[in-house]
Amino acid sequence: MRTMAASTEAFSNTAVPQHISNDHDRFPVIEIFGPTIQGEGADAGRPAHFVRFGGCDFRCSWCDSMYAVEPAQVRTAERLDVDDVLSTLGALPTGPNLVVLTGGNPALHELGSLVDALHVAGYEVAVETQGSVWRDWLGLVDFVVVSPKPPSSGMTRNTEDVNEFLARAAAASKPNVTLKVVIFDANDLEWAVAQFEGMPRLRTTLSAGTDVGFPEAETLARLRERYAWLCESVARRVELRTARVLPQLHVVAWGIARGV
Ligand code: SF4
Repeated sequence: MRTMAASTEAFSNTAVPQHISNDHDRFPVIEIFGPTIQGEGADAGRPAHFVRFGGCDFRCSWCDSMYAVEPAQVRTAERLDVDDVLSTLGALPTGPNLVVLTGGNPALHELGSLVDALHVAGYEVAVETQGSVWRDWLGLVDFVVVSPKPPSSGMTRNTEDVNEFLARAAAASKPNVTLKVVIFDANDLEWAVAQFEGMPRLRTTLSAGTDVGFPEAETLARLRERYAWLCESVARRVELRTARVLPQLHVVAWGIARGV
């Protein structure tokens, strides 16, 4: 099994939350579920299992996973080790060979041994992070989705920090890096266009944001309207001619239900 010298770097305006344990052998796991499909990013539509870790250094206004962010819930989450995660995944119905590590922000945790164990077990591994904390294990996974947050989140970071993280991920030996930006409005779209200037050439997806707190029918109607607007807007932008425009496919299929 590979070993790695662990280095962690939080970019300028972030810090690892105090409620995250320093126990590197056990991680707060909110849920493990599947089989389902990856709903976002370059692998949208691909069958996958998910492991959702608790804890996040952000608090986005439209977060749809607050149960993995709120400190009170993270503190009481089950602490699982690598074997626990593997055995739980192994008990799920078979199908996918892709495991998505998500959160919260999974990069708050030292997951190198888990990534190694998943590879040994025959899985490909994807991770989704907002790109605020670098960990060396991010260089070992098969697919890294970096999702910096636009202005509507209330958690926007400066362009230099985002680009530094993207360049670091792109330079790491293994990852297939995708930039994913969730777009809620025209201001977010202009931010994304500005963000693309000077950044490493990466596959990019623009994801129509999902409003939370509405009945399902209204959620879907809003998503459809926003997706149509985003398609029409992106199709007219020279700067975005290589971007892919997607809704959150899991929302289209199942609404905002948890565990799908
Ligand atoms: S970074 Fe993701 S998990 Fe964290 S608060 Fe924002 S949307 Fe929620």
